[in-house]
Amino acid sequence: MPDVTGLCEGDRVRVEGVEDSPLEARTYGDLLVGRSGVVQSVRGDSWALVRLDQVIEVHGHSRRRWLFAQADLVLLDVLKPEPVPVVHSGVALHDGVRVVHALKHWPRTDQEWARTLCGVGARPLWVADWPLPFSAALKDACPACRKTLRRPTS
Ligand SMILES: [Zn+2]
Repeated sequence: MPDVTGLCEGDRVRVEGVEDSPLEARTYGDLLVGRSGVVQSVRGDSWALVRLDQVIEVHGHSRRRWLFAQADLVLLDVLKPEPVPVVHSGVALHDGVRVVHALKHWPRTDQEWARTLCGVGARPLWVADWPLPFSAALKDACPACRKTLRRPTS
């Protein structure tokens, strides 16, 4: 039996056994082992209330929440979506034309200019208190920055 302790609310788990779980779970072990669900609450390192993905029918009742010993549960690896890096945008004038660039570095102070992907200096763009993300769909987006962003960096 894998020694899993310290589960947290929201953890995805699979029922690996019912040996150490309350009598109720042991009684319906055949129905419960192999099921997966989400930990709803924990008591210390010993117990976990799990909301199963599927409803279990026992004596005409539909049960979804079961109390298990944490030792009977295995934490499942959940594939978290890769965070998409946010590229901020900055604006610069080129021959009097306003061009929006993708920023490579955020300036440390308000007085500094930001470095862009295409290698020029630009002023960070803000919308209210939020730095504006660069979007290649912007009408005045810099073509060089756009191209650099599209190229996958590895
Ligand atoms: Zn650019």
